[in-house]
Amino acid sequence: MTEAKLVINENPNKKTKPDPDNLKFGKLFTDHMFTMEYSREKGWFQPQIVPYAPVSLEPASMIFHYGQSVFEGLKAYRDENNDVLLFRPDENLKRLNRSNGRLSIPPINEELVMDYLKQLISLEKDWIPQAEGTSLYIRPFIIATEPSLSVAPSNNYTFFIILSPVGSYYPEGIHPVSIMVEEHFTRAVRGGMGTAKTGGNYSAGYNAQEYAANQGHAQVMWLDGVEKKYIEEVGSMNVFFKIDGQVITPELNDSILQGVTRKSIIQLLADWDIQVIERKISMKEVYQAYEAGTLEEAFGAGTAAVVSPIGELIWKDESMIINGRQTGELTKSLYTTLTGIQTGKIPDPFEWTVQVK
Ligand SMILES: *Cc1c(COP(=O)(O)O)cnc(C)c1O
Repeated sequence: MTEAKLVINENPNKKTKPDPDNLKFGKLFTDHMFTMEYSREKGWFQPQIVPYAPVSLEPASMIFHYGQSVFEGLKAYRDENNDVLLFRPDENLKRLNRSNGRLSIPPINEELVMDYLKQLISLEKDWIPQAEGTSLYIRPFIIATEPSLSVAPSNNYTFFIILSPVGSYYPEGIHPVSIMVEEHFTRAVRGGMGTAKTGGNYSAGYNAQEYAANQGHAQVMWLDGVEKKYIEEVGSMNVFFKIDGQVITPELNDSILQGVTRKSIIQLLADWDIQVIERKISMKEVYQAYEAGTLEEAFGAGTAAVVSPIGELIWKDESMIINGRQTGELTKSLYTTLTGIQTGKIPDPFEWTVQVK
């Protein structure tokens, strides 16, 4: 990093803030964004906060051809004293560097970027909506910008952070969804890019997602790409099951994304003296538990929804209704506690939240 001094170029044309009751996910952006450049000679340089605006890139820019990019997703919340809280942002920057490593993108300086992020959030404070369940979604991302059609890592990159006020994931209260187990397509395979947050992993899932949506299901459940037996994730979330009193989540491998929410749930449950068993879990085992009447709860876990209860699982031609399509007790407690900590409503014994001045 040759240039660490952040330059702030304030936007003279501030937009009017949106109606907090009608916020869609990721459709609307704040007045400013953060950008920083990289070249082989200079390293990361020219960190700046500038008005949010279209960017100009050559059509030959490598991002358009071979998909060399990474991203992150986290949220800023407002607490009851109007203070601004981030939830475990250090974990996101660490993961961004792990994704960088997988995609041959040069690492960022996590400490400096944390400081830039805080300055950006501080400048855009007024964009953090106040209403219950709302937040400011933060999207850091890096793209390869060198104009070249060579199939090789780019020599130039741009790092952006853009911000979007988002509404409550559950405007009508937390509710269980129907999930279809995907038998044909795979999200990620052993040795692939599944542990990295990189664009292509998500477009790889669109076919299956569209098919499931057409059948009336909210999302797909992904199985491992080798044997098509073991459960990996649900949509873009990690997944947990409660079977016969035990909480089980697929053990991390190199095709599962290491969620911050997943990690936090495991730590939170340990604090409640509930051990989470991280191991391989097959769809067959889940089905047998369902038949035996011991499949008590299932839920997805990720930043967007925090916790998303699964009310129905479709596997081959079987429909498994979980907990009478009601949100389970454990799922509910986790949701209330995690969102409570994130919004400063309840104490944070883990020191997960970071205040932005
Ligand atoms: C981002 C993401 C998750 C959840 O991670 P969080 O850090 O909890 O938001 C899970 N699976 C996939 C594929 C993801 O992209």
